[in-house]
Amino acid sequence: MKTAKYVLGAIFSCAVLIACGGKEEKKKEGFSYENKKDTSTSTATKDSNEIVISGNDLMQFDKTEIRVKAGQKVKVTLRHKGKLDVNVMGHNFVLLKQGVDLAGFAAEAAVAKDNEYIPEKTKDVIAHTSLIGAGQTTSVEFVAPAAGEYDYLCSFPGHYAMMKGKLIVE
Ligand code: ZN
Repeated sequence: MKTAKYVLGAIFSCAVLIACGGKEEKKKEGFSYENKKDTSTSTATKDSNEIVISGNDLMQFDKTEIRVKAGQKVKVTLRHKGKLDVNVMGHNFVLLKQGVDLAGFAAEAAVAKDNEYIPEKTKDVIAHTSLIGAGQTTSVEFVAPAAGEYDYLCSFPGHYAMMKGKLIVE
């Protein structure tokens, strides 16, 4: 009786070992396959018209020039990399139509606090994101306008002097 139990136990643990060994191998295969898949996905993202721009606590955009192709869909993602609250260091991305006076628009925007510093019913804006604070991300999609240069800015009061750049449509 005792001997039989021992033998059975030995067989059982052998089976467990084999099963575990097999599982581990499968996991490894799956893992390397997923890795390969991730690489191809990130390459695809690079090819699409997605722009990532970030703002910091020093009132700076990390990009002051963005190039896109006319008529293409563009997605601009804005990241706030600072530590300050939206009420102190709010950032947005506002793309203006051609011929709009940057300082004039910024002055109008500065008093539009209730509308996230976008003048209500404005006809000067092609696209804009919402206003964000530390650690937040926002994005906006639009179709690139006709070829030419367009100004973009952060419309939080006082920021446009430093937080501005050119969207160049080719
Ligand atoms: Zn700002």
